[in-house]
Amino acid sequence: MKQRNSLIIGLLLIPILAFGQRKEVEGMKYLDEHRRPVYRENIIIPDVGNYQVLKCDFHMHTVFSDGQVWPSVRNQEAWQEGIDAFAITDHIEYTPHKEDVSVNHNRGYELLKESAAKSNLILVKGNEVTRGTPPGHFNALYIGDASEYIESRDAAQDKAAVMKAASQNAFIFWNHPGWQPGIAGSYDWIPFVDDLYKQGALHGIEVINGFGFHMKALDWCIDKGLTVMGTTDIHNLVAHEYDFSKEYVHRTMTLVMAKERTAESIREALVAGRTVAWASKILAGKEEHVRALFDACVKLTPAYYTEEKKNGDKINYYELRNNSDLYFELKLKEGNNTKLVVLYPRSVQQITASAETTSLYGEVISTYVRSDQHLSVNFQLK
Ligand SMILES: [Zn+2]
Ligand SMILES: [Zn+2]
Repeated sequence: MKQRNSLIIGLLLIPILAFGQRKEVEGMKYLDEHRRPVYRENIIIPDVGNYQVLKCDFHMHTVFSDGQVWPSVRNQEAWQEGIDAFAITDHIEYTPHKEDVSVNHNRGYELLKESAAKSNLILVKGNEVTRGTPPGHFNALYIGDASEYIESRDAAQDKAAVMKAASQNAFIFWNHPGWQPGIAGSYDWIPFVDDLYKQGALHGIEVINGFGFHMKALDWCIDKGLTVMGTTDIHNLVAHEYDFSKEYVHRTMTLVMAKERTAESIREALVAGRTVAWASKILAGKEEHVRALFDACVKLTPAYYTEEKKNGDKINYYELRNNSDLYFELKLKEGNNTKLVVLYPRSVQQITASAETTSLYGEVISTYVRSDQHLSVNFQLK
C-alpha cells in the first residue's frame, strides 16, 4: 500500500500540515527531510453491492495487559494505515505491567474514545477473555462494563468467564485455535466450544491471527455458520512486526461488508457473517463473500484486438483489471498460453484466448473458501 501517489501527496502536504506554523528561531535550523510525511493511507476496495468494505482490526494489546504501547499509539497506527474500525482487546486475566500501570479493564477504551472520533476512526469496546488452553482465548466486542469480568484463571470458571461477555450481549469470537501446538484439544472442536456455540455464545473464529492462518478454523466457520475473523493480535508497534518498507504490505485485518460506516452497522455485518479475512496476499472467507469481493474488484474487458495467425487461427486479446488494493493470483485452465495471472493492486494484465473459446475458467489461488479450496471463477467471453 505504498503507492507513489499517496507518497507524493504526502510530500506536498508536509510543509503545510506539519511545519507550516513553525516560527523562525534565530540560531535554529530544522532538518525535516527525514521526517515521516503526515498522511493516512487510502486502501481502495470498491463497494460490494450495497455494502461498503470496511477495514477492521479487532484484536490488539496495550500496556493495560501485555502490550508494549500506550493506547494512543494504536489510534495513530490505525489512522496512518487507513483502518476504519478497531478495538483494544487487552487481557482480563493477564496484566503483567500491573506494578507500573494500575489494572483497569475499561481504561484503554476510555482513553481513546475521543481521539478515535476525532480521527474519524470507529472504536469498538472489547477485551480478551484469556483462559488456559484448551479452551484458550476469546475476544468479546461491544462489551459493557469490563470491570465485571472474572480475573481468576481457575479452569472451573472458564465457562462463567466467557458467559460474562454473553450476558453483556457481546459479539464473541474464539482466538487463534491451535496457537499452542502439542496440547491435546488445543486445535479441536472441543465440547467446551461446542457448548458455547449451541448456547449462542460464540459468533466467530480467528481464521487469521497475525501471521498465522488457522486453516481448520475456516472450515469450522463455513460448516457452522460462524463469522470469519482476521486480526493482528499486535503487542508491539505494528511497524515493528510488518515490513512497511515493501510495497503492498498491510496489517492482517477483517474486511467487513457493512451498510454504513458506523459501529452498529459493523456489528450487524459481523453478526450476519459478511466478512473476509485479509492477510499477506491471502483472502479467506465464505465463498459467497470472497466471490462478491472478487467480482467487485476484478473485471474482464471485451476483446480489444484479434490476431490472425498464419495457419488461420484467431487469437483474441482481453484485459483483466483489478480496481482495488487487493492482490489476486489466478490459475486459468484454458486460454491459449495465459495460465497464471498475477493481478497486482490497481493493475491490469493482458489475457489471450482462442477466438473460439467461449469462457475462461480457473481458480483464484490467492483466495481460500475452504482450507483445501480456492475460489473458482468463470469469465464469459461471448
Ligand atoms: Zn490470545
Ligand atoms: Zn491477544
